Amino acid sequence: MSEMNELFYTNPYLREFDATVVACTEGKKGFEVVLDNTAFYPEGGGQPADLGTLGEAKVSDVRRQNGVIIHFTDKALEVGATVHGVLDWERRYDNMQNHTGEHVLSGVINHAFGYENVGFHMHDDAITIDMDGPMTDDDVKAMEKAANDMIKADIAVDISFPSAEERAAMGFRSKKELTGKVRIVNIPTADCCACCGTHVKSTQEVGIIKVLSASKHRGGTRIEFVCGDRALRDFTKKHDEVIKASRLLSIKPDEVAAAVEKTLQTLVARDERIAQMNQRYFEMKTTMLPADQTILTLFEEGLTPFELKLFATQVAESKKAQVTALLAPAAAADGTVVYNYVIAWDDARLREASKTLNQRLNGRGGGKDMVQGSFKAARAEIETAIAEVFGAFIQ
Ligand SMILES: [Zn+2]
Repeated sequence: MSEMNELFYTNPYLREFDATVVACTEGKKGFEVVLDNTAFYPEGGGQPADLGTLGEAKVSDVRRQNGVIIHFTDKALEVGATVHGVLDWERRYDNMQNHTGEHVLSGVINHAFGYENVGFHMHDDAITIDMDGPMTDDDVKAMEKAANDMIKADIAVDISFPSAEERAAMGFRSKKELTGKVRIVNIPTADCCACCGTHVKSTQEVGIIKVLSASKHRGGTRIEFVCGDRALRDFTKKHDEVIKASRLLSIKPDEVAAAVEKTLQTLVARDERIAQMNQRYFEMKTTMLPADQTILTLFEEGLTPFELKLFATQVAESKKAQVTALLAPAAAADGTVVYNYVIAWDDARLREASKTLNQRLNGRGGGKDMVQGSFKAARAEIETAIAEVFGAFIQ
């Protein structure tokens, strides 16, 4: 069996086949099965391996090793037996659509800009190509349109094995210098490229090419896209998200972005108003505090750690107490109540006091001029500990 006579090449639309088991050995990834011929495409040229079944055995990977195609299976197969192979056709056809789409998109960019495709990856959710030159968003949009025009034009995909002389006259895309038998995939007017993958027979079967993103990559452009059924799945998923968002915002689906922007602006303005109100509240509350206290311990509901710090700063600057301890209850991840704290004391022994408190109150946190963190203890315990620890220092 020579490479070009392999079933996935002679008929890329073959979903089921019979073959004879030539070898079966146990390896690290299960059993390694060799057949006299196969429709399972081995990973290569950027295209993932086919999956499916061989008789009762599941095929989890297919590789070409030293020219021999190895099927990795979960069960042993009897050497000499005839086995029925069934491909995961949805996966293979999806790969054929996307791979052919990759040719068309790379080809139209090559024609328009002269850029080469220097990196090609077929991921489970999308395909990426790395073109070796810069492109603007408008350039990418224009190429997406040009590629889709090629798809609508229903151009036959031609596979050939031209001689070295014939190849010299063709001018095809290739990632490396090629010798020996070279498989050329030609999509007239769109692309001509050396490739070992499986393809659909006409560009029309690609269905659609949708670019998902384009970004700068090593001086060139990385384009992420989807084709065919995968493009429809992608569209459906995103469409459903937009519909959900539009219902939440009570606006039309095509006004989602504008509505989200407006909502975010409203939130920012609201946050600013809350901050201003808090500041006035902190000032008022500070004014009302009795002066000349040694240790001031104050519990406030509903303050974030950031607000707690603003409040503590306000109180500390008023110099109404030597030690200012502000605490706010908050729900911990496990549902229990913890107390966020900020303690201010203009004294070098603050860190030492903070350490002692953390030990006594299952606390964490620290700091320099002010310490902040949280205590995992009851309110009464906290009040007692603060009075005792700072009391011992101040006397
Ligand atoms: Zn190809």
